Amino acid sequence: MSIPAAAPLFGAEEREAVDRVLRSGMVAQGPEVAAFEEEFSAIVAGRTAVAVNSGTSGLHLALLAMGVGPGDEVIVPSFSFAATANVVALAGATPVFVDIEPGHYCLDPAAVEAAVTPRTAAIMPVHLYGHPADMAAIGAIAQRHGIAVIEDACQAHAAALDGTPVGAFGKTAVFSLYPTKNMTSGEGGMVVTDDPQIARTLRLLRNQGMEKRYENELVGFNVRMTDLHAAIGRVQLRKLAGWTEQRRANAAFLDAGLAGSAVGTPSVAPGARHVYHQYTVRVEPDAVPGGRDGLAERLAARGVGSGVYYPIPIHRLPSFGLALDLPETERAAREVLSLPVHPSLSDADLKSIVEAVVAK
Ligand SMILES: *Cc1c(COP(=O)(O)O)cnc(C)c1O
Repeated sequence: MSIPAAAPLFGAEEREAVDRVLRSGMVAQGPEVAAFEEEFSAIVAGRTAVAVNSGTSGLHLALLAMGVGPGDEVIVPSFSFAATANVVALAGATPVFVDIEPGHYCLDPAAVEAAVTPRTAAIMPVHLYGHPADMAAIGAIAQRHGIAVIEDACQAHAAALDGTPVGAFGKTAVFSLYPTKNMTSGEGGMVVTDDPQIARTLRLLRNQGMEKRYENELVGFNVRMTDLHAAIGRVQLRKLAGWTEQRRANAAFLDAGLAGSAVGTPSVAPGARHVYHQYTVRVEPDAVPGGRDGLAERLAARGVGSGVYYPIPIHRLPSFGLALDLPETERAAREVLSLPVHPSLSDADLKSIVEAVVAK
């Protein structure tokens, strides 16, 4: 592909940071991780950050630290990456899949309300594609029923709603630092919380249940982040604001170029700051020849990468295998197509993307 769908950016600073840690001779979790956590808290309104080895580990630990377990239900969207629901099952609880709202592909608050039962322990909204879920409505439902909110912010670093950054709405929130996300540490995740007790439990669960060496307080994992990964993440965190502005500018260019075309451009909720982890258009079946998949093939023939996130709703994956009626989820799985929006696109790349989409 001459214009790839995603392109992680590593420069001299990342290489120097890794080299610095290698030369120190200490590469496991240490001062770089502590510094990364401290610095990351600045993008989540000062909440405490706990670094782990992936977003998936972070979500799993967040559920366990909040006491979610067997007998509990957790409300999740089915239109997400499988990790969103896998972690609920791994915690021994039951994922309850509900539908999305069609405008931004995030949890539909009315569907959430309808799915609450006496066993509901938590709601896990996903800020899909970098657009914040409707946290005012979801927060109100959670408060009314006395249930917790865990944000899956894995795709939404520095997104915000009415000036509040995502990650500062739920009791806990989790960011992924996988290479294709808006910033990366190689692999990694960051759990954030405003609750010191939960933060302590997260640190224990991350490290075999130990605060003092060989005095294990609970049964834990080894899901620590290394100082090598943290050193990369610290450099990327400094670049995040600039990259985010570039993603937003790229999205504005695509919005303008595709206005009035056969594809539906992404809509942004009032008060929402979209960070365009993905720039996702909706291609209705009869809008273009061959529908969404036909368009993806023509883009590929012109060297423009694209992606379908996600072609199969989680509840229908063989791993869950459920028959549910989630019409907006099914429609999105058939109609969404993500175009390149990453910060390394040139003006010429952006023009080529628009031309490829509108070409007859
Ligand atoms: C990437 C992602 C995850 C998992 O993060 P990893 O770091 O890959 O483990 C979870 N949820 C969503 C919505 C994601 O996009």
